Amino acid sequence: MLVRTEDAGRDAYRTLDPPVWLHSMRHRLLGYHDTGEPGPAMLIIACLHGNEISGGDATMRVLHTLRRGTSPFRGSLTAVIGNVPAYEARLRLIDEDLNRIWTRENVDAILANGPRSVEQKQLFELRTILDTLGASTGPDQRYLLDLHTTSAASAPFIAHAGNGRARDIVRNIGAIEVRKVTDYLDGMLVKHTSELGWASLAFEAGSHLQADSVDIHETSIWQALSTAGMIEWDRIPLRVRARNAETQPASETNPPVEVIHHHVIETGDNFHMRPGFANFQPINAGEVLAEDRNGPITSTVSGRIFLPLYQNEGRDGFFIVRDVGVNGQDEA
Ligand SMILES: [Zn+2]
Repeated sequence: MLVRTEDAGRDAYRTLDPPVWLHSMRHRLLGYHDTGEPGPAMLIIACLHGNEISGGDATMRVLHTLRRGTSPFRGSLTAVIGNVPAYEARLRLIDEDLNRIWTRENVDAILANGPRSVEQKQLFELRTILDTLGASTGPDQRYLLDLHTTSAASAPFIAHAGNGRARDIVRNIGAIEVRKVTDYLDGMLVKHTSELGWASLAFEAGSHLQADSVDIHETSIWQALSTAGMIEWDRIPLRVRARNAETQPASETNPPVEVIHHHVIETGDNFHMRPGFANFQPINAGEVLAEDRNGPITSTVSGRIFLPLYQNEGRDGFFIVRDVGVNGQDEA
């Protein structure tokens, strides 16, 4: 069979023959690693937004290292491209945002009636992968890493939907833990997979163009594999462990935060963020953050600005987060 040129690179890094059921997912498969030792199932989804290629590059490094090495490995690692058509076009999305359509009613409708957009087809196939992998492991043995980058420069951060095993991984990674995002943004993949019993993390490594985003993603993948008990930390490449030793857990320098406000842009608002806000920058109550057709938009609370919108797409103007204790009462 002829192999398309763009598939050849992926095949070159394939670690082991994937199980037969995954053959139908060849067009999105980055790789598969399983030495036959029982253990957790970890699924990495890279490029859920097609222009965020750092996660795919980092995943290939990890798979390549695993393939060359002889380290004992427990469980299975499956890695796929999230949005294949958007990835091939290097666009965030084709028809709709693949990280906003995972509401329960939407997923049920797509599974019952079939997909009606490019992204719905991606959802359908990803859900098939989740169901098949999930059926092969126990409920406390499923891990999902959803790898992203941001349009603006940012300290790395991780969002999750409150799963305890996800939080264990977050605490080992030098990234800021952001809680309750999934309460404000409908249809995120990690919320849906969390409800399916997967310890699920959405990892934002930095900006699309930041050179070290790939390094940060790679380190986080190894951290997740180690925390999940799939590989011993001392079998992880020395350069990764050395880089990790330079990074303190974020909770020691930046405590976890939780979302307390979300500014939603309505059609015709003519919303403009005031220039110069960096992600996680402290803000005061009464500070002007943005303008729209009704005039200045001031903060009603003190906290930190989160995901200020500096591109002309999306309905999320900005969020405000507040610091919470590592072991604070907001652990649910
Ligand atoms: Zn993204």
